[in-house]
Amino acid sequence: MRLDYLTIFPDFFAPLDLSLPGKAADKGLVEFHVHDLRGHSHDKHHRVDDTPYGGGAGMVMKPEPWGEAFDALGVDAGTTVVFTTPSGEPFDQRLAADLATRGRIVFACGRYEGIDQRVIDHAGERAEVREISLGDYVLNGGEVAALAITEAVVRLLPGFMGNAASLVEESHAEGGLLEYPVYTKPPQWRGHDVPAVLRSGDHGKVAAWRHEQAVRRTAERRPDLLHPSQLDDGTPIVRAT
Ligand code: SAM
Repeated sequence: MRLDYLTIFPDFFAPLDLSLPGKAADKGLVEFHVHDLRGHSHDKHHRVDDTPYGGGAGMVMKPEPWGEAFDALGVDAGTTVVFTTPSGEPFDQRLAADLATRGRIVFACGRYEGIDQRVIDHAGERAEVREISLGDYVLNGGEVAALAITEAVVRLLPGFMGNAASLVEESHAEGGLLEYPVYTKPPQWRGHDVPAVLRSGDHGKVAAWRHEQAVRRTAERRPDLLHPSQLDDGTPIVRAT
C-alpha cells in the first residue's frame, strides 16, 4: 500500500517513522510519501489560501496548488483521495477495514476554513473520493486526522501485526463489543487483585468471563453498539454506579 500526504505542514508526519508504522514501512508493507502543498504554489509567498467568495470569516484553500499536486502525484482511477473534514462520513473500524483494501491513498489535509469545493469535485472526476470526519469536533487542520486514519488502517494490513489474533479480539472488531478489561503481572498491586478466573487456567471459564465483561462494558459505556442478541440470557445489564 502506498500512502501520500498533501499538507502545508510536512513536519506533522514525522511520527510515521516511529513504532509499528515505521516497522511496517521497513518491512515493505507500506510506503509513506509526504508532500508540501506550497511547492505547488508559484507566487512569491507560495500562498495556498485566499478570501472566500460570498464573504465571511477566514480563508479558503485555493484550487490551483491542489490540482497541480494531483497531476504531479498521478492521481487516477486507482487512487483513493481522502479529504479529512468535519463534514465527512464518521471514521470507524469498518471504514478503516475498507480503506485497508486500497492500493493507494492520497490524504488531502485541509487548513483554514477548508478547501475550495471544486478541488473535491475535480478529484471525484479522476479518482475515488472519501470525505472523512474523525468526530464531531473541529481540529485546526487535517494532519492529525490523517495520522489517526493511517494508524487505524495500517495495523489492519496483512503481516502488520505480529499476532493477528490481537485484531480479532479488539474493541470494535467483528461482533461490535468493546474489549474486556486486561491485566498483567503482578497478581496483587496496591490492594487490587487480578480476577481469580484469569489465573484459574480454565480456558472455557476465561472466555466466558471475558465475553460477559465485554457485554457489560459495552452496555455501560456504549449501549448504542449492543444488539439484544449479544446479551447472554436476555437480562438487561444494570449500569454500574
Ligand atoms: N470551517 C470548517 C468547518 O466548519 O467544517 C472547519 C475547518 S478546520 C478549522 C480546518 C481543517 O481541519 C479542515 O479542512 C479539515 O481538513 C480539518 N479538520 C477539522 N476538524 C476535523 C475533523 N473532525 N475530522 C477531520 N478533519 C478535520
